[in-house]
Amino acid sequence: MATVFDQTKGVGRPRHPEKAHRPDQPVARKPAWIRVKVPVSKDYFATREIVARHRLATVCEEAACPNIGECWAHKHATFMILGEICTRACAFCNVATGKPLPPDPDEAERVAFAVKEMGLKHAVITSVDRDDLADGGAGQFAAVIRAICAASPETSIEVLTPDFRGKEGALEVVLEAGPDVFNHNLETVPGLYPTIRPGARYYHSLRLLERAKELRPDVFTKSGIMVGLGETREQIMQVMDDMRCAGVEFITIGQYLQPTRKHAPVAKFYAPEEFEDLARAARAKGFLMVAASPLTRSSHNAGADFEALRRARASSSPS
Ligand code: SF4
Repeated sequence: MATVFDQTKGVGRPRHPEKAHRPDQPVARKPAWIRVKVPVSKDYFATREIVARHRLATVCEEAACPNIGECWAHKHATFMILGEICTRACAFCNVATGKPLPPDPDEAERVAFAVKEMGLKHAVITSVDRDDLADGGAGQFAAVIRAICAASPETSIEVLTPDFRGKEGALEVVLEAGPDVFNHNLETVPGLYPTIRPGARYYHSLRLLERAKELRPDVFTKSGIMVGLGETREQIMQVMDDMRCAGVEFITIGQYLQPTRKHAPVAKFYAPEEFEDLARAARAKGFLMVAASPLTRSSHNAGADFEALRRARASSSPS
C-alpha cells in the first residue's frame, strides 16, 4: 500500500488506514485500450510547476487519474480544495482518508491565481468530503468561485461537489456563488452503494442534483458513473432514467480502475463498443451531452464539453 510523506497528511502515514487490514484483492491486467503513456511533455511539467508553486492539490494526482499526461499537457487540471484528506472511505477511491486539517483561508486566492496564470477558460473545482465541517465545505466552494470570478471574469466555473449529506443549506451556498455547471457524481448503481460507496445514500445524491436544478434552472447539471464494479446493464439504464427524472443534462460514464490491491477489484473491463452502446442509450434518453469511453472522467475535456453543452441548450430551446 502506498505511503505519503507530506506533512499535511502525516509523515509515512498510509493513504487508506481503514483498508490496511483488508485482504488483498486480485488485480486484473488492463486491456490494451486502457493503457496510457507516461507524461513527458513540456506543458505537462509547466502545469505541474504552477500547481506546486501555488501549493494546490489536484484530483488528477490524488485520484491517480490515467488522463493526467493528456490533460496537463493542455493546461487543464482539476483543483481539489479543502485539503487532501477525505472523511469518507469509498471502496473505489484513491484519495487519502483520515482526519483532515481545518480549511485554509488563503486557498481561494491561490486557486484564483493559478487559474489566471494558466489562462483557463473553464475551471473545474472539486473537493474531498468534509463531513467534519458544519457546512460540509460549501463556504470554501463559494469563496473559490467568487475569487475566480473576480480574478478571471471570463472563465466559466464547474463545481464537482460532495453530497453535503446532513448539511442543511450547503447546496444553496454553493449555487448562490454562481457556478456555471453543478456536478455531483452518483458514481455507481444503487445496489452497489453499501459496498462501494458506504458513506453515501443514492437517493440523497439524486435529490441533490434535482434540487440544484430546481434552485438554479440556468445552471447546467452533470453527473457520472463508473462501470466495471459489478453492475448490470439494466441497473445502468435505471440510473440514466433516474438522472433524467432529476433533470441532469450531462452524463459521464467511464471505466472503473482499481487504485490498489486494497480497493474493490475490477469486475469487468467494458470494450469501447460497449461504451458506444451506453452512449447511444443515454442520448436516446434525452441527455443534452453524453461522454462515455473507457477513459472518460467527469472533468475530462470539461471546457470543450461546456461549450458543446451551451450550444446544445441553445439549439434545443424554442426560439
Ligand atoms: S480527467 Fe480530470 S482528473 Fe483526470 S487528469 Fe484530466 S482534469 Fe485531471
